[in-house]
Amino acid sequence: MCRHLAWLGAPRSVASLVLDPPAGLLHQSYAPRRQKRGVVNADGWGVGFHDDAGQVRRWRSSRPLWGESSFASLAPVLASGSVLAAVRSATIGMPLDETAAAPFTDGTWLLSHNGRVSRAALPPRLDAESTCDSAILAAHVFAAGVDRVVDTVRDVARADPDAYLNLLMTDGTRIVGLTWGDELSYLVEPDGVVVASEPWDDDPRWIDVPDHHLIEVGPSVNGARPISVTDLEDR
Ligand code: GLN
Repeated sequence: MCRHLAWLGAPRSVASLVLDPPAGLLHQSYAPRRQKRGVVNADGWGVGFHDDAGQVRRWRSSRPLWGESSFASLAPVLASGSVLAAVRSATIGMPLDETAAAPFTDGTWLLSHNGRVSRAALPPRLDAESTCDSAILAAHVFAAGVDRVVDTVRDVARADPDAYLNLLMTDGTRIVGLTWGDELSYLVEPDGVVVASEPWDDDPRWIDVPDHHLIEVGPSVNGARPISVTDLEDR
């Protein structure tokens, strides 16, 4: 399964979120600490963010993150208050080009899927960005509306009970994360909140979100962001 993270808060450089943390996404691309399925995440990566005008920007690649020297050169000067990044371990049978790498977008939301789902359980969609299962799932989530993501995931899980459907999304004002077969962790910092597949360091303030939960990080109100974690068994 892939590894992903979302940041919402004061602008931070992409390097400080993705490359610099000692156990962050770069490290997770070759030595994830909590990954249950798959060994390395060498089948590509993607970074998406909202720019100052709120527009989605993405940089994706089909190559291992650790070999991307041009990205490493520019990542320190790319900064945003809304970033979603992922490293990929491709599911067998899925395309290996960069269009299959998260994050996917509808122009507003950035979405990453960690897991796999049978494409037989996903009606095809012409607006999917790739034939990869994750891209088709993203198109379904966008079409139904992110506010309905729990219903969409339940529908897909009914059609494929073996699916892993871990999702992480941001539209620049909030983060929505869903665990379905894996976990998430989050860290509240003075200048924002990060939600990730696994902690990027050993800071004891990281809080785990168990499987089958929804985490929502809301827009900032007087400098604080409301965070809710809901057990999906309860809704
Ligand atoms: N199924 C997706 C892909 O092939 C995601 C894989 C993953 O989470 N490892 O890219």
